[in-house]
Amino acid sequence: MHMHPSQPNIKSTPNIKRSVLNPTPRSLGALLVASLSLVGAAQAQTRTRTELPFPDLPGFVTLRCDFHMHSVFSDGNVWPTVRAEEAWRDGLDAIALTDHIEYAPHKNEIPVNHARPYEIARAHGEPLGLIVIRAGEITRGEPPGHLNALFLTNVAALNQTNTIAAVRTAVEQGGFVFWNHPGWKQPDRKSVWYAEQEQFFTNGWLRGLEIVNGSDYDPIAYQWGLDKQITLLGNSDAHNPVGFDYGAAPGELRPMTLVFAKARTLEAVREALFARRTAVFSQGRLIGDAQFLEPLFQRSIKIVNPEIRIREKGRTVVQIRNQSPMNFEVRFDAKSPELTVTEKVVLVAGKVSLLEIRAGSGAASGERDVILNCKVQNALVTPNEVLSTSLRLKVQFDAGR
Ligand SMILES: [Zn+2]
Ligand SMILES: [Zn+2]
Repeated sequence: MHMHPSQPNIKSTPNIKRSVLNPTPRSLGALLVASLSLVGAAQAQTRTRTELPFPDLPGFVTLRCDFHMHSVFSDGNVWPTVRAEEAWRDGLDAIALTDHIEYAPHKNEIPVNHARPYEIARAHGEPLGLIVIRAGEITRGEPPGHLNALFLTNVAALNQTNTIAAVRTAVEQGGFVFWNHPGWKQPDRKSVWYAEQEQFFTNGWLRGLEIVNGSDYDPIAYQWGLDKQITLLGNSDAHNPVGFDYGAAPGELRPMTLVFAKARTLEAVREALFARRTAVFSQGRLIGDAQFLEPLFQRSIKIVNPEIRIREKGRTVVQIRNQSPMNFEVRFDAKSPELTVTEKVVLVAGKVSLLEIRAGSGAASGERDVILNCKVQNALVTPNEVLSTSLRLKVQFDAGR
């Protein structure tokens, strides 16, 4: 049975024409122009994308991705087209529908068909420029728990009673396999590295760890990712419409994996995941290696007035623009005798924030480079450590008065 992917709901022309019908005489041409422009306006109003301008890194494009979500084809509550549409609206570049392969509670209403979630989502997402990845969730009790497999060629082939055979099949298809929500069944969510995981890992099969699932961040899994050099992922695992779980607070975003890819293509996403070039964005926080978080931060901000002039014991302000979609909470730890800066500042997303600078009495006259060391408190480069970086200014110190 073939199902047509549903099309966006565009109001039919007769309705729009009726709505602009006017008792005063006007030319047919004017009416036609009016109705055409209204059709355009209706589309623009109903379907908009919130762009998430995370900066690109040197040599890589930054892609916003959610590699874990469900549809009615397993235990989700939305049709696959909705996943593609909401991902586009949420500013994402790539998604994977990972319906459970072995668990289909709607099977009496919707026939089990492992090929369809991807096909339906792709048909809707591709015209929007969304990268849709063929995937599935291997769903077992613990151990080993749930594993997602991305970039499959045949999802149904993973439906095997033997877990090792299922994972091996995913790997043989070129799949990228990651462990979902490691700690979710453990007391206090203390994740346990099972013998099964060790085997998958030593086989080279287990390549990723979900360190953020929904709103849960797993510091134990994060440490594994660092120690074992496994790719870090953060995903929604959405079952309901994403708007049910995120967005109640203004500006709240779903969790996502930032992928630093050589191009904006499916194959480049795959290459970047195997090469471990990712970071996680969740609940206003960045999580990942300093080698990615430092340029992400530095390329997000721009000092509007990098050359400042200040008198002895005087004060001035530095304006810092944050072009990214997230706030940065920055704490300055340097207190030199010649300069004092605001101890803590929030660089607000999409705005210019002020940093107050005061000159001490010990500053000699003249122009020089000043490096302001700081810590970005919502950028976690290990489970216990935030990003250390610096801002550079050119300061002209003037003698007193
Ligand atoms: Zn799961
Ligand atoms: Zn899931």
